[in-house]
Amino acid sequence: MNDGKGLIFNIQKYAIHDGPGIRTSVFMKGCPLYCKWCSNPESQRAHPEIMTYDIRCISCHRCEEICPVNAISFNEKRRQIDWEKCDNCFKCSGECPSKAIERIGNYLTVDEVLNEVLADEIFYRNSGGGMTVSGGEPLLQWEFVAELCRKAKEKGIHTVLDTCGFASWNVMEKVLKHVDLVLFDVKHMAATKHKEGTGVDNELIMSNAGKTAALVRTWFRVPLIPGFNDSPEDIRKIAEFARSLHIEKVSLLPYHELGSSKYAKIGKTYSMDGLIPTDEEKLKTATAIFESHGLKVEKER
Ligand code: SF4
Ligand code: SF4
Repeated sequence: MNDGKGLIFNIQKYAIHDGPGIRTSVFMKGCPLYCKWCSNPESQRAHPEIMTYDIRCISCHRCEEICPVNAISFNEKRRQIDWEKCDNCFKCSGECPSKAIERIGNYLTVDEVLNEVLADEIFYRNSGGGMTVSGGEPLLQWEFVAELCRKAKEKGIHTVLDTCGFASWNVMEKVLKHVDLVLFDVKHMAATKHKEGTGVDNELIMSNAGKTAALVRTWFRVPLIPGFNDSPEDIRKIAEFARSLHIEKVSLLPYHELGSSKYAKIGKTYSMDGLIPTDEEKLKTATAIFESHGLKVEKER
């Protein structure tokens, strides 16, 4: 929280994959996990940052002139950023005439976000939708998220929390009081493999998944990452866990490379270059395994 404000990197209207019906998805910035395949790397850092779009640059040099730490230079007309030097002062993004450098992440009050959400109330009513709070990891800013969901529910808006579950139960419980449905991300059942792919082990996450499912309506979200968690054995273990918790539905997110080009734009390196997107056969096999455990399956994106 920042004076009661939340750090948000996107508010997406008319979302149809983030829970039931038509929804407004609020994406909180900052995540305690670093999933190697993350398609929204701009969601990971818990502070505002710049994102660059080389194709829009008209080489006017304004950013180079204004940067107080000389982090911008030109090499054969191409603008380059020294990411080590950049301290995210946002002078360049404020000055760039062609939006070739943009600020990612803004601090908004609960009421500012809620007003955006309420603007589309009619769509929620007609479709059984509502508001989804996603990320990044919303629970990093749990006080803001709890208050946003509390106020939304007060206005009769259906609330969904999309979480990786890596937070103390004490915090989760406080947020879940104001949540109608949880989309709980499950990436791997083996602690070492989980840590390898996400930077953290899964003990706390698994424990929170059980407690969450006992308290609130819960769906699992499973990214299908080739060579990481898409073997029949890995899928079967997740399916068994889901069945043991009486999970209602599993959403499968096939791996794609669409986010890979974003990494260089924020000064990061994508470590999964060359990984082939999830093929149809793997998706069918995973679907069949979950269904054989009595679970409803939905394919996302
Ligand atoms: S945001 Fe970074 S690159 Fe841009 S002006 Fe500030 S220090 Fe320089
Ligand atoms: S201000 Fe924008 S358009 Fe001009 S050189 Fe910098 S990035 Fe390119």
